[in-house]
Amino acid sequence: MNTPAPIKLIDGKAAAARVIAEVKTQVAAMKNQGIAPALTVILVGQDPASQVYVRNKVLRAEECGIRSEEHRLPADTSEATLLALIGELNADASVHGILVQLPLPAHIDETRVLQAIDPLKDVDGFHAENVGGLSQGRDVLTPCTPAGCMRLLEDSMGDLSGKHAVVIGRSNIVGKPMAALLLKAHCTVTVVHSRSANLKELCRQADIVVAAVGRPRLVDADWLKPGAVVIDVGINRITEGERSRLVGDVDFDSALPKVAAITPVPGGVGPMTIAFLMKNTLTAARLQQEAPCPSIS
Ligand code: NAD
Repeated sequence: MNTPAPIKLIDGKAAAARVIAEVKTQVAAMKNQGIAPALTVILVGQDPASQVYVRNKVLRAEECGIRSEEHRLPADTSEATLLALIGELNADASVHGILVQLPLPAHIDETRVLQAIDPLKDVDGFHAENVGGLSQGRDVLTPCTPAGCMRLLEDSMGDLSGKHAVVIGRSNIVGKPMAALLLKAHCTVTVVHSRSANLKELCRQADIVVAAVGRPRLVDADWLKPGAVVIDVGINRITEGERSRLVGDVDFDSALPKVAAITPVPGGVGPMTIAFLMKNTLTAARLQQEAPCPSIS
């Protein structure tokens, strides 16, 4: 009798559904204590992709029992107006999470805006205080995509201690916080990027590869050690003939026979990002109960 092949596909949709179920239970428990977790999303401008992302975030929050609110501002909104709105939301004790959808129009300084959000309400985990806390290994509000990747890795591998992880990409949103989380989980971490030499050779040494690049199918089987676990963060739209479709940064078909496990695109990391936004909103509400005075007024 043949032994069944081990399951190689990391099912992000199923993992995200488990996170959402945890969040729903905890939101209900919090409401029983008289606290109604609430998320506010701010969108400046009309970018079609951002509009879809914001709508999905709000809908998912409602599904979890999290009160959600959208502020849609015109593309020519001044930085001062946006900062004033953030100031009001910081001071509003009924708002627990504030998310400013990126990218912002070019005339607005993104760093200044992210720094204006109360770190305890910073559900994207982009405020310097949370970034610093993460690099110190503290439990702080952590960027949603890398937090989701960590959950997928821990679900498939258990203890990550001592594993060699190669992170491809060094963005503030994915690559850098991913590296910090892997270090916190006791991995040996190599971060490679557009200026790295010997990228493929470094990748071949990895037990874990996290690809967050934005280059369709950059990583193929030749880059991977047999038995590696691969998390593909990339979302790239490509056109094949008349059809357009989404692919990751990893050439899935070539990698699959060689790896121990891999996330598909779509259906891998994507669903985890939004699930961890819900989890972060709940965490933010808890943190504010522990320290009810706004840290920024
Ligand atoms: P980014 O453009 O900010 O960063 C890309 C990084 O890749 C940079 O650090 C750059 O140095 C590196 N890079 C570029 N070309 C390279 C090459 N040829 N070799 C090695 N490194 C190279 O992008 P980002 O915001 O980190 O996003 C990366 C990808 O992940 C994108 O496809 C994005 O759409 C996707 N993404 C997905 C989710 C999700 O929820 N699934 C969330 C965020 C980002």
